[in-house]
Amino acid sequence: MAETISHSVPVPVPQQQKAVEDAGRSLVSYVLPVYNEAEGIRSFHEELAASVATRPEFDYQFVYVNDGSADGSLAILRDLAKNDPRVQVVDFARNFGHQIAITAGLDHADGDAVIIMDTDLQDPPRVSLEMIDAWQSGAEIVSARRRTRQDSRFKRFTAHGYYRLLRHCAEVEIPVDTGDFRLLDRRAAEELRGFRERSRFIRGMVASMGFEQAEVLFDRDERIAGETKYPMRKMLRLAADGVTSFSTVPLKLITRIGFASLVLATVGIVYAVGLRLFLPEVTVSGWTMLMVAMLFLGGVQMLSLGVMGSYIGRIYSEVQQRPLYIVRKVIRYDDD
Ligand code: UDP
Ligand code: MG
Repeated sequence: MAETISHSVPVPVPQQQKAVEDAGRSLVSYVLPVYNEAEGIRSFHEELAASVATRPEFDYQFVYVNDGSADGSLAILRDLAKNDPRVQVVDFARNFGHQIAITAGLDHADGDAVIIMDTDLQDPPRVSLEMIDAWQSGAEIVSARRRTRQDSRFKRFTAHGYYRLLRHCAEVEIPVDTGDFRLLDRRAAEELRGFRERSRFIRGMVASMGFEQAEVLFDRDERIAGETKYPMRKMLRLAADGVTSFSTVPLKLITRIGFASLVLATVGIVYAVGLRLFLPEVTVSGWTMLMVAMLFLGGVQMLSLGVMGSYIGRIYSEVQQRPLYIVRKVIRYDDD
């Protein structure tokens, strides 16, 4: 039994799997992040297993990453691993977040193709079969694009706006209305493993790699159980990571705002000095303008500092070079 404490060492392919690979069959790995999904994870696994059973020409590996769940998800996953030799569970020492969980799953997946998928059945397993078809016809990266989604009106509205904003300012072309539900060919997965930045926006990293890309359209279902693990705070952080990892537009924007306020300030200065020189008796009435200018510039400066600060904060956490995640244990079928 491999008791892994390190963070990014890829686990060797089990012997039995190697033999199968040698026989020329392709292995498809699923990367499955789990955070407090105890209510639905069993039905998820059943549905996934039923879906892949319709494509017996491939071998499968299911890499579940338990992202510090506190609701008994781990016990269920352990049970799944005990009953299904294709299941492997990477158990995190605490909650590291969705993007990091996907990263760990990728590090542990050995497939010729790797599929990243949520475990709440919002990404339907049958769609992953369509991705496999697209991969078989030569695509190296297959993204699933949402035709419709069942989330709250607020989430749909903000996501719609965000993807368009990102397309506008990002330096790489990030496909709109596409989450992390994707298939990566072995080559693409290997490349993606090399991206070790801490503020991760995986859909952007994938887009920046190139490769032969394809798309499948799907209707995103509702969660089967439980509620979203992306509250406002986490959603905003992911959104900010997306912008700051792929764009320096905010930094350029503050330069422009700086210029604009400089022009305004010049007008103000000319006006104030003119007034002082030619109409000295009314100068004291300029108090309003003084306040307006001071408060306005103060606000612009604070805002600019904030934008710069968020980039500097990211530089700081990158140079610390801490491990991306800590694994407590990797659980497999043959463990006791
Ligand atoms: N998830 C995770 N760690 C987290 C939050 C979420 O591994 O800190 C997993 C979660 O179990 C699910 C996927 O990431 O499989 C997507 O999360 P969720 O469904 O809550 O996000 P939404 O679909 O609402 O955007
Ligand atoms: Mg979901």
